[in-house]
Amino acid sequence: MIDFHCHIDLYPDPVALINECDRQGIYILSMTTTPRAWRESLKMIKPARRIRLALGLHPQIAHERLGELGLFEALLFEAGYVGEIGLDGSPELRDHQGAQIRALDAILKACQLGGGRPLSMHSRQAASEVLDALERWPGAGTPILHWFSGTRAELNRAISLGCWFSVGPAMLNSKKGAEIASLLPRNRTLTETDGPFGKINGRPLRPYDVGLAETLLASTWNITVAEVTVMLRQNLRTLTAIHGIA
Ligand code: MN
Repeated sequence: MIDFHCHIDLYPDPVALINECDRQGIYILSMTTTPRAWRESLKMIKPARRIRLALGLHPQIAHERLGELGLFEALLFEAGYVGEIGLDGSPELRDHQGAQIRALDAILKACQLGGGRPLSMHSRQAASEVLDALERWPGAGTPILHWFSGTRAELNRAISLGCWFSVGPAMLNSKKGAEIASLLPRNRTLTETDGPFGKINGRPLRPYDVGLAETLLASTWNITVAEVTVMLRQNLRTLTAIHGIA
């Protein structure tokens, strides 16, 4: 199983959860929300064989953390993956759109200079603006739009720009989310939980709940769960091969 977007350091007992996920052999890409969290989180996941850490600056707090952009650039050389980054156009964050874009541009520029990375991206209510930023920095890497919720036109634009997608149980459980999933390029799709923010029935999802996303994808795509599993594994292999990372 593959959880390509979660926040493992934000669960109540991350060490126990990391051990359990390691025992189950789940592949996890854990986001950092600020560059400052990188060192501590890296230490935490180190013993697990299949857990990777992405260096990020979450758009919802980017306006308060512009001072950490220098640290982001300094740490990038040791980060195989980048996330969570992006833009959030929710009404309460409108005032910070300028700061969000400044942060994202600085990050994408650093990634482009660094030869590109897989980029796990947030684009809530800002899909077009995220795609605009990606067009400004075409060498930034491979964007994986997580929990995509844009329009059909934005989805088509994202697909033609070469974006990948990660989808989770919470998204696939909604009618709109399932509709989007049915239109995704299957060879550019991965699964995620977005735990502990991603929830199902009010309960935070844990990485090993990501099997639910496989089940829901199988029914959306009208293929078997086993076929979905094989496809996802192949997709992860392709993505890591593109970037020469393990
Ligand atoms: Mn997230």
